[in-house]
Amino acid sequence: MDNPRYRCNSCKGEGRQHFDEDDRRISEICYHCRGQGQVSLETAIHDRHECLVSMLAESIVNQKIRACDHSDHGEGWGFHAAENGMSKYEYTAAKIWDESGRIQHAFANMDPTILNAMCDLAKIPELELISE
Ligand SMILES: [Zn+2]
Repeated sequence: MDNPRYRCNSCKGEGRQHFDEDDRRISEICYHCRGQGQVSLETAIHDRHECLVSMLAESIVNQKIRACDHSDHGEGWGFHAAENGMSKYEYTAAKIWDESGRIQHAFANMDPTILNAMCDLAKIPELELISE
């Protein structure tokens, strides 16, 4: 029991990931757990916290999009995207990436029990121990 294994949240424990590419269904070995379907406790906790980070980043960017698109003066989100030579989708993804970095930085020295509580509030699934 010195190395408990937890369900990989990238592949839901299947060991493979499925996605659509050019109308074809592709299945690949899960990059995250290298096909094992399981990760260490440390990785599982980290993954859960990362899930919180991306939820928060998306929420912050959505707030910015709303503020931008509903402002009486200034340009909409699409204008800012074009100004940066990106599509709206690319610009949004880039902004989410920026916010994720900012949140990770803010969380770096935070007590993990606080992060766990925030994950609970965000209804991120609990770690799932895989029994042998
Ligand atoms: Zn996996």
